[in-house]
Amino acid sequence: MVPALKIKNIHVSYFGRTAIEAIDLTLEQGKVLGIIGPNGAGKSTLLKALLNLVSVDKGSIEIFGGTLKENRKRIAYVPQRNQYDWDFPIHVLDAVLIGTYPNLGIFKRPKKKDKEWAYECLKKVGMEEFSNRQIGELSGGQQQRVFLARALAQKADIFFLDEPFVGIDVSSEEMIVKLLKDLRDQGKTVVVVHHDLSKANEYFDELLLLNKHVIQFGNPQQVLRPEVMRQAYESELSFLFEVGVNG
Ligand code: ADP
Ligand code: MG
Repeated sequence: MVPALKIKNIHVSYFGRTAIEAIDLTLEQGKVLGIIGPNGAGKSTLLKALLNLVSVDKGSIEIFGGTLKENRKRIAYVPQRNQYDWDFPIHVLDAVLIGTYPNLGIFKRPKKKDKEWAYECLKKVGMEEFSNRQIGELSGGQQQRVFLARALAQKADIFFLDEPFVGIDVSSEEMIVKLLKDLRDQGKTVVVVHHDLSKANEYFDELLLLNKHVIQFGNPQQVLRPEVMRQAYESELSFLFEVGVNG
C-alpha cells in the first residue's frame, strides 16, 4: 500500500524567518498521527504546508503517492477553531453540507440525498438535534463536533485537524477521539496537531515531535521519553526554572 504521506526535506519560512526545516516523514495509511511540540514549533505550519496553504521553499510532498491536487477530494481539513468567524450566520446543517460540495461539482445544488447524508454525519457526532441552530450559538465543543461532521460529510481518506481539543468540554473530546479511532479502524488516516502531552499516548498511534525540525518520530513509547522530550521543550523548561528562581 502506498503511504498516506511521504514528505521529503521540506522547508517553510515566513518573511525570511525559518518556521520549519528539513522535515522528513513517511506515514502509513490507517494511523492516527499526533504532531506535538512547543508553542511556535511549526506544527500548524507543517499542516498548512501539507495542504498547500503556505508555500514550501523546498522539498517534496506526496499524498497517497500523488500530488495534493490529484487527491484534493480525499483530504479533509479542520483548522484551529479560532480561525473561523462564526458570527457569520449559517445553520449547522448547511455548515455540514459544505462538506459534501467537493463531491458535488460546481454547478450542482445539494439534493435531498446530500442533505440526508449531512444529517447522518451530524448524528455520528451527536449533533442532529442542533441541525437548525445557528453555528454561532453553539459551545466550543459543539462547534468542533459540527466541523468534524463536515469533514466526515466529505468522505475523505485523510483528515487533518489543528488543535481540535482546545477549549472544548471533556465529553466532546472523548467523542471526537473515539470517532478518529473509528476512522482509523476503517483504514483512514488521521493527522492531529496537539499541544497537550497528557493523553498523547492514549490518543495516537504515532507521534511526530517537532521543534522547527523533527526531534523524533515513532510510537508514543519511543517519543514520550524524558531525554527526547527535553530536546524539544528545553527552552520552556529553562524559562519556568528562571521564573521559579526569580519569582
Ligand atoms: P505552532 O502551531 O507549533 O504553535 P506555527 O506553525 O503557528 O507554530 O508557527 C511557527 C512559527 O512561524 C512561529 O514563530 C510563528 O510566529 C511563525 N508564523 C506562523 N504563521 C505566520 C505568518 N502567517 N506570518 C509570519 N510568521 C508566522
Ligand atoms: Mg498552531
